[in-house]
Amino acid sequence: MLDQISEQVYFILSRSFDSNITFIKTGNHEILIDAGTGLYTSNLNEDLQTLGSSIQSITDIVLTHCHIDHIGGIIPVLEAGSPKLYLHEAEAEPINQGDMSQTLGDTFGVDLPPFKIDVLLNEGDVLDFNEVKLRVFHTPGHSAGSIIIEIEDTGILLTGDTLFPGGSFGRVDFPTGSPEKLVDSLRRISEMQFEIGLPGHMNAMKYNARQSAMSSYKMAKQWFKT
Ligand SMILES: [Zn+2]
Ligand SMILES: [Zn+2]
Repeated sequence: MLDQISEQVYFILSRSFDSNITFIKTGNHEILIDAGTGLYTSNLNEDLQTLGSSIQSITDIVLTHCHIDHIGGIIPVLEAGSPKLYLHEAEAEPINQGDMSQTLGDTFGVDLPPFKIDVLLNEGDVLDFNEVKLRVFHTPGHSAGSIIIEIEDTGILLTGDTLFPGGSFGRVDFPTGSPEKLVDSLRRISEMQFEIGLPGHMNAMKYNARQSAMSSYKMAKQWFKT
């Protein structure tokens, strides 16, 4: 399901085990935030075609973290075109050294070919795509290199697998997960100013997403007794 969030931002709700995917079209950049498992890339391509785009024309793929349900889809997009790949350095460095263990590919029986991340992200980075500027916040907890992304001046926050709607949040029992760090990251998000939250799974938080962040923070704090 393709949902237009703002003039340049489209939210593509997950198919099966895929992550949600956000598509941003701005000037000469066509950007994906997360890429799904890769099992449904032909459906993604059909969605993009309705917007006058396609997987061939994707210029940039920004990953909220390195789990297979978010990054598997970069492989068919890399085969179709030549997008630049972005990932937090904590997860990009192992991948660039050929260590794919943090992607959970093994756990889910998926064999990812090696690839290189072009841009290693850090807290405070701003990716400048002309009219659209993406600000990176490092929010570890679900995984060591999880980030959330603010689309500047829009009130839209891409929350990856850190913050989900309805008081929920990402699991912390995968390698490099940390309940303490997740609670701290959720506290940080709950103090941010934003209206719309686009999570890595489940539905968009279209109204009062900050309220949603506050309930997730409270729930996580209680759940993990931190
Ligand atoms: Zn996920
Ligand atoms: Zn994940």
